[in-house]
Amino acid sequence: MPAPQNSIAENLAAVRERVAAAAARAGRRAEDVTLIAVSKTFAASAIRAAHAAGARHFGESRVQEWESKRAELADLDAIWHLIGHLQSNKAARAATLFHAVDSLDSLELARRLDRARAAAASDPARAAGANAAETPARLRVLIEVRLDAAPAKSGVHEDDVPALAEAVLALPHLELRGLMAVPPPVGDAAGARPAFRRLRELRDAAERRIAAPLPVLSMGMSHDFEIAIEEGSSEVRVGSAIFGGR
Ligand SMILES: *Cc1c(COP(=O)(O)O)cnc(C)c1O
Repeated sequence: MPAPQNSIAENLAAVRERVAAAAARAGRRAEDVTLIAVSKTFAASAIRAAHAAGARHFGESRVQEWESKRAELADLDAIWHLIGHLQSNKAARAATLFHAVDSLDSLELARRLDRARAAAASDPARAAGANAAETPARLRVLIEVRLDAAPAKSGVHEDDVPALAEAVLALPHLELRGLMAVPPPVGDAAGARPAFRRLRELRDAAERRIAAPLPVLSMGMSHDFEIAIEEGSSEVRVGSAIFGGR
């Protein structure tokens, strides 16, 4: 059941408190954890309610769905993230509709995004965001890592992370910020802890390999974001705990 809009504000406040408490337990600062409100399947009005309650980062899974909602939200000052699998034939649209693609999983996709962003930079009116002048020329990207062996899931194999990171770093219109993962489903939230730890280790290894900082670790969802924060997450992607069930 979708949450009524007054409870979106309450839910958001409760999630914020839990983020702060988890950060405190880990000796971290709450402001070092970015909360991405995952608004896929929810109407523009729900996004507006979350924005009114202070949310400034939103995650959408599908290019087309976001395209259909964004006109109603053009006045909002926010950072729009694509968090779902991106097909290469939609890369050009995604590069102008989002500030960040958190689900980069191939070099071919990276090259397409880079080319599209270059075109958008020379035509700022096409870039994402209400105020094109404030839109950074470079598209922020995270490499999505596949943490279990299931070949059908999206994300790159962990062995391929350093080489992809190195190649993406060389693309001038992309800004590689870090890694993202959706861990394999486990019984309880604590069961995801080893996977979160693994992603942090992969990030540290990739940083050493490319000799550049990768400050973002995007991990943790409604059911496990506190564990993810304890393991170093800097971006949690929270949908149902804010907007209600899908
Ligand atoms: C839907 C989704 C989320 C949010 O999931 P909730 O369980 O609703 O918090 C986070 N990340 C990705 C990649 C998603 O697709």
